[in-house]
Amino acid sequence: MKTRQQYIESLRRLNPEVYMFGERVTSVVGHPMITPSMNAVAATYELAQGDIMTATSHLTGKRINRFTHIHQSTADLVTKSRMERLMGAYTGTCFQRCAGMDALNTLSVVTYDIDRKRGTRYNERFLKFLRYVQEEDLVCDAAMTDAKGDRRLRPAEQADPDMYTHVVREEKDGIVVRGAKLHQTGALNSHEIIVVPTRAMREEDRDYAVSFAVPSDTKGIIYIYGRQPSDTRKLEGKTFDVGNLYYGGHECLVVFDDVFVPWERVFMCREHEFAAELVEKFASYHRQSYACKAGMGDVLIGATQTIAEYNGIADAPHVKDKIVEMNHLNETIFCCSLACAYEGAAEPSGTYYVNSLMANITKLHVTRVPYELARMAQEIAGGVVVTVPSEKDLRDPRVGKFVEKYMMGVADVPAEKRMRVLRLIEGLTVGSGAACYLPESMHGAGSPQAQRIMIARQVNLAAKQTAARRLCGID
Ligand code: SF4
Ligand code: FE
Repeated sequence: MKTRQQYIESLRRLNPEVYMFGERVTSVVGHPMITPSMNAVAATYELAQGDIMTATSHLTGKRINRFTHIHQSTADLVTKSRMERLMGAYTGTCFQRCAGMDALNTLSVVTYDIDRKRGTRYNERFLKFLRYVQEEDLVCDAAMTDAKGDRRLRPAEQADPDMYTHVVREEKDGIVVRGAKLHQTGALNSHEIIVVPTRAMREEDRDYAVSFAVPSDTKGIIYIYGRQPSDTRKLEGKTFDVGNLYYGGHECLVVFDDVFVPWERVFMCREHEFAAELVEKFASYHRQSYACKAGMGDVLIGATQTIAEYNGIADAPHVKDKIVEMNHLNETIFCCSLACAYEGAAEPSGTYYVNSLMANITKLHVTRVPYELARMAQEIAGGVVVTVPSEKDLRDPRVGKFVEKYMMGVADVPAEKRMRVLRLIEGLTVGSGAACYLPESMHGAGSPQAQRIMIARQVNLAAKQTAARRLCGID
C-alpha cells in the first residue's frame, strides 16, 4: 500500500489538462484551491491500517486498502459502512474515494453477468485492471453522470449526440469516445477514471452503453474545475475563515474529447441490455456509501454542542432536545447503511451486493437529514454564524480588541475559539463545506426521485396487502 507521501508523489507525476477561472492549471499538487480535497483523499492512505481501512485481496491474498477491495462477505459490506462513517468524521468532508470502490464492485458483478449471457471476455479484462489498481493502490474516479441535455429525450434522441458519453468509432486496437461526465468528485485527485453509463439504454442507444477505465491524464480528457460557495477563501492565505482547516472536496466537469480507449480497458461496449443492471448496482452500492454523511453529521453535532456551550445555552431544555434530535436523525442514516449491508448477499460472480431496497431507503434519508441538522445547527449557533468578522480583523491592531471583546460568549472561552467553531458551522451549512454536505446529499448517488422510483419498484406491496386482507377477512 502507498503511504500518504507516495500518493501525493504519484499525483505529481500525472499531467492532466485542467482549467480553473479561465486559466490552465499546470500544477494540480500544491494548488491552494485543490489541496484541501487532495488532503481528504490522502487521509484514506494515512489511516490505512487495521481491519476497518484495509482488507485481504481475493485476487492476491495481499493486504490492500479497503477502497480497492471487492466485497467477499456481508462483513465486508458492514465494514465498508463503518469505514465511510469514520472517514466522514475524520475529514468532515467528502473524501472522494468511495465512488471508485463502488464502480469496481459493480463491474466485478456486471462484467461477469455480461460474459455469462454474451460469451464475452470482459470479466477477465476487468480483473486484470483490478489487480493493477490493488497492487498500485490507486484512486479511481467513477464517472457516471452525463450532461443529459433535454431530460425528456433518450440518449439517441438528443439534438446534440454528445449529451451522453458514447462510442464515436471502433478501431482495431480500441474505441474512441466522446461526451462529458459532470460533477466528478475528486477527479483531479484520481489516478484512473472509470466511465459507466448513466441510465438504462435501449437498442437504439447502444453506442451509449459503454464502460471503460483510462488513466486520468489520458490525451483528450479535459477537466474544468467546479466552483463552490466561498471557495476563494482558500486563496486568502491560511486563516480559520475557511472553517475546516485541513480538508475539502472538489468536483469537475470532465470532457472526453475523442478519447482513445484500448480494448483491454473496455468493460462494456454496446451491450445495452446490461446498462440498467450496471446503473442499479452502482447506485445501490453508492447509496450505501452515504454513511459518509453520518460522519459529517458527527462533526456538525460536535460543533453545535460546542457553540451551545460557548453561547451559554447548552443547558436550555430545547437546546438539549435539539441535540438529541440531531443525533437521532444522524444515527438513522447509519442504521440504514448498516442494514443494507447486513442484508446483502452474494451475486453469481461471488461479489457481495447490498440489499438494494434498503440502500435506496438509506439515501432517501440522506436527501433530508443533513438539511435538518444544518437548520438546527444554525438555530443554536445564532445569526452570528453568517456575520462573524474575519480572522484578519481579529488580528488587526486597531479593531482586533473590539472583535475579541464583542465576539465573546461565556466569560471563560476566548472569542477566537467561538469564532473558529462558528466558521466551521458556517462552512458546513452554507460555505464550501456545505457543497459536500447538502446538495451532494440531495443529488450525489442520484436525486430523491431516483430513490423513490427504486423503492416503488422493489417493495412487495402485494404481500403487504395479503397480510392486511387476511387479518380483516377479505381473503
Ligand atoms: Fe464517498 Fe460520501 Fe464523497 Fe460519495 S459523497 S465519494 S460516499 S465521501
Ligand atoms: Fe458523492
